Formats: sequence, structure tokens, C-alpha cells
Amino acid sequence: MATAASAPSIDPNVSTFVGTTRKLFINGKWVEAASGKTFPTYNPATGEVLANVAEGDREDIDRAVKAARAAFETGPWAKKMSPAQRGKLIWKLADLIEKHQEEFAQLESLDNGKPLKISRIADVPLTFEHMRYYAGWATKIEGNTIPLTLAGPTKYLAYTLREPVGVVGQIIPWNFPLLMAAWKLGPALATGCTIVLKPAEQTPLSALRLGELIQEAGFPDGVVNIVPGYGETAGAALAAHPEVDKVAFTGSTEVGKLILHAAAGNLKKVSLELGGKSPNIVLEDADLNSTIPGAAGAIFFNHGQCCCAGSRLFVEEKVFDKVVEGVTQIAEKMQVKPGFEPDCDMGPMVSEEQMNRVCGYLESGFREGAKAVTGGARLGNQGYFVKPTVLVNTTDKMKVVQEEIFGPVVTAIPFRDPNEIVARANDTIYGLAAGVWSRDIKRALSVAAKLRAGTVWINCYNVFDPALPFGGYKQSGWGREMGHEVLEHYTEVKSVCAALT
Ligand code: ADP
Repeated sequence: MATAASAPSIDPNVSTFVGTTRKLFINGKWVEAASGKTFPTYNPATGEVLANVAEGDREDIDRAVKAARAAFETGPWAKKMSPAQRGKLIWKLADLIEKHQEEFAQLESLDNGKPLKISRIADVPLTFEHMRYYAGWATKIEGNTIPLTLAGPTKYLAYTLREPVGVVGQIIPWNFPLLMAAWKLGPALATGCTIVLKPAEQTPLSALRLGELIQEAGFPDGVVNIVPGYGETAGAALAAHPEVDKVAFTGSTEVGKLILHAAAGNLKKVSLELGGKSPNIVLEDADLNSTIPGAAGAIFFNHGQCCCAGSRLFVEEKVFDKVVEGVTQIAEKMQVKPGFEPDCDMGPMVSEEQMNRVCGYLESGFREGAKAVTGGARLGNQGYFVKPTVLVNTTDKMKVVQEEIFGPVVTAIPFRDPNEIVARANDTIYGLAAGVWSRDIKRALSVAAKLRAGTVWINCYNVFDPALPFGGYKQSGWGREMGHEVLEHYTEVKSVCAALT
């Protein structure tokens, strides 16, 4: 039993899992990469190798796509199984994830660096509940009957069918490795697609463990294939593959544009969930007792490695000092340490590269005149830790205000005129999320109406639910994840028109 002073020991199943070189999951079998190559994944709290993983590349992606194509065209999945049977399999997978939840929580913490206490209560439960939500959708993918405009009702019977889009390539990031796999797999499975999933090279482990449970649940071979590898090789090959009908990507806006170009060859369907620089707006009448921890959580949750992080904190002048002081106090109290430590509030950045990127942004901010009220640098010299940071003295055109840092860095910006704040909040290439804090719900709703963002949280932040669509305006993406909205991206509409006379 863990005490406040001692980190929990690693689950024996997790030790075994990371102790063996992990293989690719193609056509229901665990196989080596065609090249025989492997790559290491690191524990970011120590910088040490955590596990070795087969390195998928173009040839492996091709094998996986062919397996997914065969499973779609001739396997039982799309042609023989009923929606109810598919739904039951997805539900069974959710049950298995729940059964093995501690293993997943540990793998996620070790591979990504996040606090174990957070992966236990957030990443893993959100994952199995997400699967259950889409298990329910499998039996509810419906078309319509259509009364034709130009013909009488007895002349034609016209209706639409929603059919699976086909073979789907899914490329996911490292910030919520397991949950992002679930966000992608849930709707694809519910609609009857087959899948090639490429996890991020920094965090391939939980997706591979998920592959074992997909096998145990009894999904037909080839329905889900999992091919870890690097973005420029395996990821690019998947995005460009001519036999892939759709690519779904979550990651940076920069790579999203590459995916789009790669997809142009066969005009595959594309959905993108990309970056953000989300405004979090505090009006002077906000309840500061909940706003201050809310604003701190909006940026520091998952170490700021969230596409929707509330990284631009706009605060009405009258309460600016109080809010900055409150967020600073929270930042200073945060325990920044390895994710397995029971009192860890914030773990390391996912990789050395990411830590250097965040520190590079801090230096650029300082060069341009920003000041750190707290934090502002790397913490220690082992592992990839960055101090939670509050920046002030910024101007709206600075890089730290315009670009996505993807780290625990908030810029706190005072404003005087509430009528102008929406324009400043919208002054970004992104449009993923936003927050508004006010006791006056009418004012908050009026600000929400004017924000160009896919999600607006009022008096809360980072509230996610499988039923609530999530995605971006502007350069934050194309399409939506979750809810019933996402199902449209995984289905084609077929109009059938039968002459009755
Ligand atoms: P980050 O820069 O934060 O690592 P990325 O957007 O690069 O985020 O990565 C998200 C996912 O996209 C990862 O799975 C990565 O391997 C993949 N990826 C990176 N570059 C490419 C590319 N050129 N084509 C396809 N996938 C890519």
C-alpha cells in the first residue's frame, strides 16, 4: 500500500509489458517490423529507456492497410456482423479496459510523465466510458426517408443509408495517448470502419496494450491494426496511402497541413484536431474563489500539454492583481516531480525536445520584454521538468501570446474595456476553445456567442464528455471529435431512389 512518502510499486503486468520488445499489431497478429528495426520510448521523469518497440515504416503500414482493406471488404466485420454484435464487442473492450485500469494508468504515467493520480481518475475512466458511449451508437446509425421535391409520394421511394467510410488511418499525439486512441477508435468501430492506428513515437505503449485487449475481446482480424513508428515515416505513409479512405489526425497545426497535402493524392477524407491558443477571460464580477483555481487548472492540467489549454488569461483590470497573485500561489505550491510520486501535481514534459521547445519560448518571451511572476525555467537537471510559469508584461503580438507553447506557461493579460476583449481573444489563427468567468450568466453567454471557438466553457474549464463535440474553428482543425457529430466523418451517405411505378 502506498503512503504519502512512498511511490507505488510498478504493477507486475506493467513490468512484464515494458520488459519485452513490443511488436506491431497487424491482421490480428503481433509481428516484427519488416525492417527488423526497433526504437526506444523513454521515461521522461528520468530520461531512461522505458521500453523498446518495433519501428513501423512504409512497408508495415502497407501490410496493415491491406489487412484493414481485406477485413472491410471480405471479413465478417462490415458485411456479416450486425450493429448490435459490433456494439457488444466495443462494450466488451470497455469492460476489459476497466478491468485493467491500473495497468493502463501506470503505463500512461511512465510513458507520458503525467501524475499517476490523474491518469487513474481522468485518462483511463474517460477512455472506457468513451468506448461505452460509442458502443451504444453502433445500433443507431440511421438514414432518412426523403420526400422528393419534384415527384409525388407514390412515384419513388427515396431514402439515405449511412455506410462506413471504409479503411481509416488514425494518427494520434502523445499528450493523452490512451484517450486519444479511444476518441479515434470509438466512432470508427461503431460505424463499421476498419482501422490502422499510428500512436505517437513518444508514447506508443498504452495503445499496444490496448491492442492485446482488442484481441482478447474477439474483434475479427484486421479490424484494428496498430503500427507505432515515427511521424515522417510511418505517419506520412499512412496519410498518403492510396487505399486509405479517410485519415483522422490529432496533433500540431503544422503537421495537420502536411497530412492534408499527403491526403490529396487519392482525395481521402480528412478530419483534423489541431493546436490552440485558447483565451480564458475573467470578468471583474467573477467569483474569484472558483475562478483562480479554474484559471490555474486551465493551463497547468496535463502540464499545459493540452491543445485547448487556457494559455492566454485575459483578466479585467480591477481584479488582475488578485487573479495573478492567486494563480501564482497555486503554481508555487504545485509539486513538480515524477508522476509516480503520490503527491505529484505536475510531471515532466513528455520529452527532452518538448522541454527545450517550452524553454525556448520562455527565452523568446523574456527577450521581447515579458516577465515571469513565477517559474520561467527548467526545474532540476534530471528528467524533463519545467516550472509552472505565469508571464506578465506581454503585448498581443509577442510569440508567447500568439504561438502554441504546449507547456505550463500562461500569459496573464489585463484588459480595461470588456467590449474590446472579444476582438483580442479572437486575434489568433486558432479557434479551439475558450473560457469565460462571470457571475452574470447573461454577460458570459453574450461573450460566448462572440468567441470564434469550437468549445466555450463558462465558469469551468476542461470539462470533457463523450457526448459533447470537440474541435476547432479556423486553423484549429476540420470536423469534430465526439458526440454524434463525429459519426458523420466516419460515414458516407448513400441516396437510394427506387421507382415505384
Ligand atoms: P508534436 O510536434 O507535439 O510531437 P505532432 O503533430 O508532430 O506533435 O505529432 C502528432 C502525431 O503526428 C504523432 O503521431 C506523430 O508521429 C505524427 N506525425 C508527425 N509528423 C508527421 C507527418 N509528416 N505525417 C504524418 N504524421 C506525422
